[in-house]
Amino acid sequence: MTHPRKRRFIKCFLAALSALLLGTCWVSVEYGYGYQWVRANGKTFQVILCRGGLALNSLPRAPCHTTGLDRWPSGVAIPPWPTLDTDSSRSIVAFHLPLWMPCVASMILTVILWRRFRPFPSTHCQSCGYNLRGNESGICAECGTSIAWPATAERL
Ligand SMILES: [Zn+2]
Repeated sequence: MTHPRKRRFIKCFLAALSALLLGTCWVSVEYGYGYQWVRANGKTFQVILCRGGLALNSLPRAPCHTTGLDRWPSGVAIPPWPTLDTDSSRSIVAFHLPLWMPCVASMILTVILWRRFRPFPSTHCQSCGYNLRGNESGICAECGTSIAWPATAERL
């Protein structure tokens, strides 16, 4: 069983990740943003957050913008499912991921872990969940954790 502090960290991290993904998804519906790298030979790589989706494109040459972060015209349509388009003759690779997918996955994982990693009752070892009623040694018999007893009254 994981340490309670580690479990709390994992739970909070996943909750924050879900909130961040949900926020990004929501903002990207209204405001499209893209980052584009243009190399010396003109070969271009784009990361675009737009219309609730993430697009990763590799193009043989830059269509319009120069290197940098920029508002993106919302003309990029993101399909509701992940797609990968390749055109080897024109060396184009386009990957589209709708953001609702990682968002929902992260929210489901968050709910599962919050339910699973509930704190143990105060009469149990907070490290392993072992029932400590009647424990006099102040050390958990199961995992050896020393017990700070706020539950002194409850153990009698
Ligand atoms: Zn224990």
